[in-house]
Amino acid sequence: MATMQALWLENQTVTWKNDVPLPSTPTGEALVHVRLAGVCATDLELVRGYYPFTGILGHEFVGEVVESVSAPAWVGQRVVGEINAACGECEACRAGRPTHCERRTVLGIMQRDGVFAEYLSLPVVNLHHVPTSVPDEAAVFTEPLAAALEIQEQVHIHSTERVLVIGAGRLGQLVAQTLALTGCDLKVVARHHHQKKLLEERGIHTLSEDDILDKKMDIVIEATGSAAGFHLARQAVRPRGVLVLKSTYKGEVQVNLSSLVVDEITLVGSRCGPFPPALRLLEQRQVDPTPLVEACYPLGEGQLAIEHAARPGAMKVLIKP
Ligand SMILES: [Zn+2]
Ligand SMILES: [Zn+2]
Repeated sequence: MATMQALWLENQTVTWKNDVPLPSTPTGEALVHVRLAGVCATDLELVRGYYPFTGILGHEFVGEVVESVSAPAWVGQRVVGEINAACGECEACRAGRPTHCERRTVLGIMQRDGVFAEYLSLPVVNLHHVPTSVPDEAAVFTEPLAAALEIQEQVHIHSTERVLVIGAGRLGQLVAQTLALTGCDLKVVARHHHQKKLLEERGIHTLSEDDILDKKMDIVIEATGSAAGFHLARQAVRPRGVLVLKSTYKGEVQVNLSSLVVDEITLVGSRCGPFPPALRLLEQRQVDPTPLVEACYPLGEGQLAIEHAARPGAMKVLIKP
């Protein structure tokens, strides 16, 4: 049986292996050779055991299709891929909500091996062709950029509105870059100097936590996934404002629900988003994620890559098979 190199997660331990079987490609799926992969906060949470998962870690990638029996035209194409593999038959799928498929598997997160490997398998319907002008170092950001754009699928942002992003890490930076395109009055709470600098280089205004005024923001995006971040967001949003939760939380967060009722706050949970506009923004260079790349490790040093990504204030760490 053909084998490959991969980063295997089991019992909160990541191990590099060179004898992992190649993923099987059921009908309708394509085998993709990974060109470049990105480490995200979800990977770190899986390693810490916040969600049960055993198998190959990773879900952000750009790759090249090497085998696609049902759709051979894909072979040789450079692609990115949506991470939720949907059944196509359940109520959520039939209603056009495939990311909420009741029987979904999720690349490197739930019952499907991920991308910190030489090869992955995904349904052909999940794949998107990457325009030639978009380099691998930018294309690898398509998935988190799509997640950032999901906010604008859910909340209409007027150019006159005051919008605050809490958190200027990997995701917060992409959220800020996409929101800046709306022309809204945008500010970003950044803790680390280099995070502030990345934003200011793009003309995006930053704030420190102490400068946040109580209940003045129309829309607040919480992108830290920490209780402290949530409380800051709650403090900043005005009555009848919108609070968007863009990160998952480790464990449970204490919330004063009555204050949300009294202030008539709209809470919006936000997860995976649309790939086509993310790829368009990369192609048109309206967003540029490449300055966020902090390091790139070979797959054989993948454990170091994951340790690096977990450092406080670390930006994007890539893995190259
Ligand atoms: Zn992710
Ligand atoms: Zn389904």
